[in-house]
Amino acid sequence: MTEKPSPALFTLYGIKNCDTIKKARRFLDAQQTNYQYHDYRLNGLSDETLQRFINTLGWQALLNTRGTTWRKLAEEEKATIDNAQAAKALMLAQPAIIKRPLLAAADGSMLLGFTETDYQQFIRRSHNMFCPVIELAQQLIRRPSLSPDDAGCQALMIERLQAIGFTIEPINIADTKNFWAWRGQGETLAFAGHTDVVPPGDTSRWINPPFEPTIRDGMLFGRGAADMKGSLAAMVVAAERFVAANPHHRGRLAFLITSDEEANATHGTVKVVEHLMARQERLDYCLVGEPSSTVQVGDVVKNGRRGSITANLTIHGVQGHVAYPHLADNPVHRALPALNELVATEWDRGNEFFPPTSMQIANVRAGTGSNNVIPGELFVQFNFRFSTELTDGDIRQRVAALLERHQLPYTLEWKLSGQPFLTSRGKLVDAVINAVEHYTETRPELQTTGGTSDGRFIARMGAQVVELGPVNATIHKINECVKASDLQLLSRMYQRIMEQLIA
Ligand SMILES: [Zn+2]
Repeated sequence: MTEKPSPALFTLYGIKNCDTIKKARRFLDAQQTNYQYHDYRLNGLSDETLQRFINTLGWQALLNTRGTTWRKLAEEEKATIDNAQAAKALMLAQPAIIKRPLLAAADGSMLLGFTETDYQQFIRRSHNMFCPVIELAQQLIRRPSLSPDDAGCQALMIERLQAIGFTIEPINIADTKNFWAWRGQGETLAFAGHTDVVPPGDTSRWINPPFEPTIRDGMLFGRGAADMKGSLAAMVVAAERFVAANPHHRGRLAFLITSDEEANATHGTVKVVEHLMARQERLDYCLVGEPSSTVQVGDVVKNGRRGSITANLTIHGVQGHVAYPHLADNPVHRALPALNELVATEWDRGNEFFPPTSMQIANVRAGTGSNNVIPGELFVQFNFRFSTELTDGDIRQRVAALLERHQLPYTLEWKLSGQPFLTSRGKLVDAVINAVEHYTETRPELQTTGGTSDGRFIARMGAQVVELGPVNATIHKINECVKASDLQLLSRMYQRIMEQLIA
């Protein structure tokens, strides 16, 4: 690993010839804790560090009113220390007055005073935060990979995968970085995902800078934490553990990673899939790490997605003066009954896995800006989110028939963004359900809701495709975050899926 070794996980603050500091250090040494010692007298105490202490612990707790330094103060001086500002100034001038020891973990949490049980608990809790999944997720978040820029995320993943015997095939197209990686042969399970993220928005509204990952109260914050660098970290670490336990696995484990999912998705997964299909690459099962969960990790698994197609319709008329309608042909008037029928149509009733197909008008535009002009054209844009009960061909045909019936002169352009796909019950769905149930004791719900995903492209390879990822409540938002323990669970789930399908 080229990443510089991570700094100490803990910092112990204090003053050298103090008994409790000595005790605390003896304890940390005996536990082989990865810590550094910071002496207020030797290493100083900055305003900024003290402010962090005060923010986290409160100035009253920090002020050691039982120690000799405090007792030596004049009563009048003691009386002035009744607010954070005054206490801070005093502590900066006389750090010996700060309660010792102070143990700070790299995630910002702190512990004052020393008892063996407190230390044991604090260290154990902090170590959970520093599992390899969280660490890799943080390394990925630190790389500001605004779509379609990869910013070195894939290099980091590739290095880890290469180290455990994966063969890597970069498939870089235009501004987009993609790679396909595999280990072993035969029946193939691929993990798919994207390294790109959406822009952070107004960075001043983030509690912490969006590309400086932080952990607060067990939540990992940062752009991409949930969508989907957390999943990527969970996948890579799952692969590492799986390979260590099953060096001669039966099937093939693969990765399909892109840096263009959030923006245009033109040079990303779709191109990799075309490339792989051209040489008849085998893909049986594909797990996409998109954030599918709603309240707890694994409560929702996506086993398909609706299709999406957009119509850009122009109804033609004849422009004229509103006072002389007989000399014009008003396209708005002509179109209204047709639009009404369009809105009232039941396209299908959905099925076991899909809600009924929905059509929504996204835009209607006509008029020249004058109240005395009959417009020459009416433009309408509408979008279908459609189930597997329909094909895009059916939709095109039914819309054309409707317009014909209303005898409308029109031009119509279609834009298909994605075909629907569905993976019904089978080995992959079963393995995913089993993995979730094993770790959470809840049975995941199979859903096909939400926008499109790269799963639509991968399904073309004939693979079973399922999406399982973290909770999606904050994706694309300010202060995007994910529960650190969810990522750890997710990694275990991914590993269990590997074990069931290709061990
Ligand atoms: Zn995503």
